[in-house]
Amino acid sequence: MSEIKTQLVVLGAGPGGYSAAFRAADLGIETVIVDARDTLGGVCLNVGCIPSKALLHVAKVIKEASHLGAHGVAFGEPKIDLDKLRSYKDSVVGQLTKGLSGMSKMRKVKHVQGYGKFTGANSLEVEGKDGKTTINFEQAIIAAGSEPVSLPFIPEDDRVIDSTGALELKDIPEKMLVLGGGIIGLEMGTVYEALGSKIDVVEFLDQLIPAADKDIMKVFMKSYKDKFNVMVETKVTNVEAKKDGLYVTFEGKQAPAEAVRYDKVLVAVGRRPNGKLIDADKAGVNVDERGFINVNKQMKTNVEHIYAIGDVVGQPMLAHKAVHEGHVAAEVISGKKHYFDPRCIPSVAYTEPEVAWVGLTEKEAKEQGVSYETATFPWAASGRAIASDATNGMTKMIFDKESGRVIGGAMVGTNAGEMLGEIGLAIEMGADAEDVALTIHAHPTLNESIGLAAEIFEGSITDMP
Ligand code: FAD
Repeated sequence: MSEIKTQLVVLGAGPGGYSAAFRAADLGIETVIVDARDTLGGVCLNVGCIPSKALLHVAKVIKEASHLGAHGVAFGEPKIDLDKLRSYKDSVVGQLTKGLSGMSKMRKVKHVQGYGKFTGANSLEVEGKDGKTTINFEQAIIAAGSEPVSLPFIPEDDRVIDSTGALELKDIPEKMLVLGGGIIGLEMGTVYEALGSKIDVVEFLDQLIPAADKDIMKVFMKSYKDKFNVMVETKVTNVEAKKDGLYVTFEGKQAPAEAVRYDKVLVAVGRRPNGKLIDADKAGVNVDERGFINVNKQMKTNVEHIYAIGDVVGQPMLAHKAVHEGHVAAEVISGKKHYFDPRCIPSVAYTEPEVAWVGLTEKEAKEQGVSYETATFPWAASGRAIASDATNGMTKMIFDKESGRVIGGAMVGTNAGEMLGEIGLAIEMGADAEDVALTIHAHPTLNESIGLAAEIFEGSITDMP
């Protein structure tokens, strides 16, 4: 058993954990980071954001190439070499995790591999490949992240997979059910559909990506109605594993009368925080029923010297939220008087078209009784969208009715996530419609649509690009 004494220990090396550790080290704090994985990067880099985007990139190119046939440039049927594709995805992950390891060494952040649990208010025990390590710390940041939720009635079977299993790309199932119409399920469904699978999606609520506005999802569905067979307001009640496939029984509005056979079922019904798995009680840290750890705006738990960040502290479970929380925790530990109080946190589904929103959705504005007005710009009227064969898109801005301030925005369309930052900045800076409308956007670009939506609100729109 080895023993380490440190000023700060960070438990979990995902985007929250490594961002906190690096910022703390930059501020002169002696830092140790603990993760059960061999590599830094957590879920996001190893089995989340990054590998999924590598595969979505390939899926997009496949689809774009096939669409070009209509414009006189025909390619043959894609030949998929799964081993090479997997290697490509792994090399993307490897490049980034290697980069993190270098940055960690440069900052003298010590990485201890192993699973850590609290043994007291100032101590952790880590069980790793090289044995046990006791870490005595002055301060700690819990960044233990989350794991996919499984459903009790689903049998243990190789053909039932979660997002991690889907990213392993073991094979391309002929027919796959995506259980859950949220972002992760739709992204993985998009990948497998492009590779040749037939995809059914079942969603308990009345639309896919339930958090997004209905008009946005209507545009999305125009592109996806031929890609996915979608069953909304429907749930799975049973999955039976047989030799020739998984037989799934449904109940609800669009439920098939008989059990349907699938080669694979991807369960994507949400993620559960890891707060209950770290013996937080031994350090006196409160963890709620679901496994979330409550924190204040300085990311402090109920124990003065222990902080928590990222998925383990609550929704939205997104990497960029974790990063910002990590910076706040590290800065507070170093004595700065910072706190986490963003006006908005963007959400993006990297499907094709992408679905992206930030600030208030119209649904939320209504629920909160906010006096608002929307302005939408259809991409069918955008010169760039027409030239790029990307007219199925829409930009929607939400303004405070009296002040004209931007309070929300959503985009559906190709590369929507890349353009959303402008709306986020407008919200953070307290910009109003006039500020956005008078900002000259380059022509022809898709993000002109943001300026044009603002002009529509201003009533000043005169022509279309
Ligand atoms: P995590 O990334 O979950 O990392 C926690 C780490 O802690 C893990 O490495 C785990 O091994 C380690 N750990 C936990 N407990 C212990 C312990 N007791 N001892 C040692 N180590 C421990 N978010 C986005 O913003 N954009 C995206 O495009 C996106 N795509 C996603 C795609 C998929 C398929 C998935 C699954 C998620 C995606 N997410 C995305 C969500 C994103 O991955 C998470 O929000 C983010 O990783 C959370 O960061 P975190 O630092 O809280 O923890």
